[in-house]
Amino acid sequence: MPIQLPIYMDNHATTPVDPRVLEAMMPYFGARFGNAASRSHSFGWAAEEAVENARAQIAALIGASPKEIIFTSGATESNNLAIKGVAEMYREKGNHVITQATEHKAVLDTCKRLEKSGFEVTCLPVQRDGRIDPDDLERAITPKTILISIMYANNEIGVIQPIPEIGRMAKRRGVVFHVDAAQAAGKIPIGVEGDGIDLLSIAAHKMYGPKGVGVLFIRRKNPRVEVAPIIDGGGHERGMRSGTLNVPGIVGLGKACELCLREMPAESARTAALRDRLMQGIRSRLDRVTVNGSIEHRLPNNLNVSFAGVEGESLMMGISDVAVSSGSACTSAKIEPSYVLRAVGIGEDLAHASIRFGLGRFNTGEEVDYVVGRVAETVSRLRELAPLPAPACGKIK
Ligand SMILES: *Cc1c(COP(=O)(O)O)cnc(C)c1O
Repeated sequence: MPIQLPIYMDNHATTPVDPRVLEAMMPYFGARFGNAASRSHSFGWAAEEAVENARAQIAALIGASPKEIIFTSGATESNNLAIKGVAEMYREKGNHVITQATEHKAVLDTCKRLEKSGFEVTCLPVQRDGRIDPDDLERAITPKTILISIMYANNEIGVIQPIPEIGRMAKRRGVVFHVDAAQAAGKIPIGVEGDGIDLLSIAAHKMYGPKGVGVLFIRRKNPRVEVAPIIDGGGHERGMRSGTLNVPGIVGLGKACELCLREMPAESARTAALRDRLMQGIRSRLDRVTVNGSIEHRLPNNLNVSFAGVEGESLMMGISDVAVSSGSACTSAKIEPSYVLRAVGIGEDLAHASIRFGLGRFNTGEEVDYVVGRVAETVSRLRELAPLPAPACGKIK
């Protein structure tokens, strides 16, 4: 089958909606438009039933009880609710929060905001493989520590943190444990019991569901965890997140979870094989290529590579029919290297020379082979040229 261009290989930024998810959502844009909070007629009951069905599908994916699932607008909101909600609720107990350097900005910036209101935040470093050292964490915990927030898997390098070990430590020390699982949910097995997780954030659009909907799992027993709401109103979601529920989005997230749970073993084997084919293909055609972050503790769909001597931005422009991300971000007209790669100890030059490939459910082997060819010829061409000045910021078509 001929491949279609452009090729999407940026599945850590967002994933396409699975057609089966879209199909499940459609009736809730049409005849089943009711408000799930309407208790007095069948329109409301149908919407509520759909929401409760989705709650069960989501709970099943992470080994939770449906009552522990709170709907939000996405992982950014879930992270805010978890961190600010615990900070407010447990303020009497202490004012110390622990996180780590490669978290998503939705965690880091939320912690920064807490600092402004008198909280103390410890940001743990990561080792060369991208994982925290659990001994560092153990040493950082004080009697004032009320929250540990560590992501399941990183959005740039796909590195998986030692979550069960951290969970056991948090439990032993009586500290609430929040996990940002936006990249991990639906890709690798998660069990909130075995992993010792108290709060867990999920985003539908990273797992073939729609944008603008997510979940915060909030543990109800052993121990019962409470968070203060950040959005007040009609008392939806047991008062923890007011606002009329996004019924079509929630139905889509439920379906996405059902599909991920059922297809995970086959899908992770398939995407890992595609990822390895990509890596081996690149390695067979190019030298001075390094993989960033642990290979062993890594999402099956992630490959983050630095091509020495090449600007990632230039490489991306050279392979314009392939959608990927580079390890540089444009901030106020300056190109900054990724803080994640810098935290892992990668020098500025190699951080600028990096590309993130995010494989997904709809990529094929033919696409991978095409991408290998495009990357190899573009890197070779760029390396032959004299060193180029860094490209300007902004979208260049
Ligand atoms: C995408 C992402 C988020 C933000 O999720 P949204 O639903 O887009 O707000 C948070 N954390 C991680 C690790 C992510 O990959």
